[in-house]
Amino acid sequence: MILKERTIPLKIPYLEAMMRRNLQGSIKTTKMDEQLLKLWAGYHGECKLDRHISTIDNEELLILNDLCIPIGTTFFQIDSLILSRYLALILEVKNFSGIIDIGGEFEQMSRVIDGEKIGYSNPIEQAKRCKVHLNQWMKTRKLPMLPIDYLVVFTNTSSVLNSLGQNHKHKGKILKIERFVSEYLSLIKNYTIPHLTKKELKKISHFLIKSHTEFRPGPIEEEVINGVQCNSCLSFCMIRNKGSWFCPSCKTYDRHAHIQAIHDLLLLKGPSIGNRQAREFLGIESPKIIHHLLNSMELNVHGKGKGRTYSIPFPQLLQKPIGSIKPTQRF
Ligand SMILES: [Zn+2]
Repeated sequence: MILKERTIPLKIPYLEAMMRRNLQGSIKTTKMDEQLLKLWAGYHGECKLDRHISTIDNEELLILNDLCIPIGTTFFQIDSLILSRYLALILEVKNFSGIIDIGGEFEQMSRVIDGEKIGYSNPIEQAKRCKVHLNQWMKTRKLPMLPIDYLVVFTNTSSVLNSLGQNHKHKGKILKIERFVSEYLSLIKNYTIPHLTKKELKKISHFLIKSHTEFRPGPIEEEVINGVQCNSCLSFCMIRNKGSWFCPSCKTYDRHAHIQAIHDLLLLKGPSIGNRQAREFLGIESPKIIHHLLNSMELNVHGKGKGRTYSIPFPQLLQKPIGSIKPTQRF
């Protein structure tokens, strides 16, 4: 049973809004598009793994995706956590393509793609750190203890994995997605003693969901392009006309063009906005029209009258961002 669904990371619509509204290069976009491609590729890789997990026939499993748990002054992140009465299994998901070497004397990971070699954090060490943090987190809260294990899953079928060194100590810990279900079924054979009751298991999972903290971007200091963007010719010159939006440049009407503009405003200048801020951004003089537009969207509303503000209902924001860049094979 999935207790916490996977959603598009908020950093994706945030970066897309930044790139869309970058006024004469006021925001440093260096590597922003590359970062966006990585995020999309990572997200699609995780979704691919979700489909494999869903084929495991065990109704007692509780699955929590995309956990970000505060610990001390920092956080630990888990791509997927599979909980049962026997085991808490951390899944660290990677969607790299190319030739990947892991291990060696210095326990490093590197990737060779298009003849270029780049080093990355070792995912085994990342997963081990998560295990330590999760264990500590459970102890601190005096929750019933459960054995914790981990797997690192590479979801890009075109990647080639090499384990460096002679001892193959990571054997069975790093795997390609095709082997996930069989490795999982083989791993759980090592955990045959139930450590929790069903009630205790639910308690831990609800505690984790309650502790999850969403990444909330913005606000940014830089000046951005104001206005409502035309979805056809991409100019920011749409005007309010006959209860809709009209683009004088390509003569297109679009009743919903304000939605992206208001989302962009909330992402880049939020987390909350008022009527005046929205009027200035959308180029509308009438507070009544803006009131109507803001209230027609599924936003959180705070306060009353002139002091009323609106914010995005995290984490459900923008699950289908407009103009999204699709991932390539490069990541
Ligand atoms: Zn247009």
